[in-house]
Amino acid sequence: MGQYASRGYYDHERKIHSEAYGTGVYDEDAPKILRKLAKHWGLKEPSIRWYSNWGSGSASSWKNELRLSHNPSMGLVIHEFAHLLHAKARGSSSLHSDNKHVKELSEALFRIQNRGTSHHGLHFDVVLNRVHVYAKSKGYWKPQLDKWQTKREEDIRKKKDEKAKEFVAKAYPHLREVVAEKIEKTKAEIEKKEAAKARYAKKLQYYQKLYGTKTKKANRSIAALKRALSRYEAQSQENVEGM
Ligand SMILES: [Zn+2]
Repeated sequence: MGQYASRGYYDHERKIHSEAYGTGVYDEDAPKILRKLAKHWGLKEPSIRWYSNWGSGSASSWKNELRLSHNPSMGLVIHEFAHLLHAKARGSSSLHSDNKHVKELSEALFRIQNRGTSHHGLHFDVVLNRVHVYAKSKGYWKPQLDKWQTKREEDIRKKKDEKAKEFVAKAYPHLREVVAEKIEKTKAEIEKKEAAKARYAKKLQYYQKLYGTKTKKANRSIAALKRALSRYEAQSQENVEGM
C-alpha cells in the first residue's frame, strides 16, 4: 500500500470496504480487473509487478505500474489503482480531460482546500471512494471472477484428461490396435449371431408347419379311433344283453 499510511488508516479502510477486502483475486485476473478500471477512467492499463505474499502493494504513476503481492484482495487492487487515478486526477490538465469521470473527479478534488501532502490524505480518500463506488456497482466483478474460476477449473480438467490419455498411449503403445481388434471381433460375433437367428427363424417356420400337419393328422386319427371305440363298446353291450 505504500509506506506513508498508518496502521489505523488501513484498518479503517478494510472495515469500510470489507466486501472488497473479502474478495480474492487470482493473479491472472488482476490485469482483467485493472483493464476494466482503467477503461472507465480513460487511463492506460497499468502493468503489474508481482512480489511475495505479504498482502501489500504500491503504485508508481510515472512507470504506470503497480506492485502487488500474489493473490491480492479486490480491496488491494482497487487501493493501488486509486493511487494512479489520484495522480492523474490531481493534475490540472485533468480538468479538461476527455473522460467525463476523470473530469468530474478532478473538479471534486480541486474543490477540496486541504488536500494534504501524504499519499493517504482526504484527497486520496475521495478518489478511493469513487473507485469503490464504481467497483461495488459492478458487484466487485464477483460473478465474473466466478466465471473465470469455472473456466480455469475446466481448463485444468481438460488438461488432466489429455495428460491421462497421453499417459495411456505411452504406457500401452498398442492399445489403439488392441481396441480396434476388439471392435472388429465384436462386430463379427454380432453378425454371426444375427445369421444364426435368421436360420432358427426359418427352422421354426418349417417345423411349425411339419408338426402342425402331424398334429392335425393325430387329431383326425384320435377322433376316428374314439368313434370306433364307442362302436365296439356299443356292440359289446348288445352281445351281453343277447346271451
Ligand atoms: Zn496506498
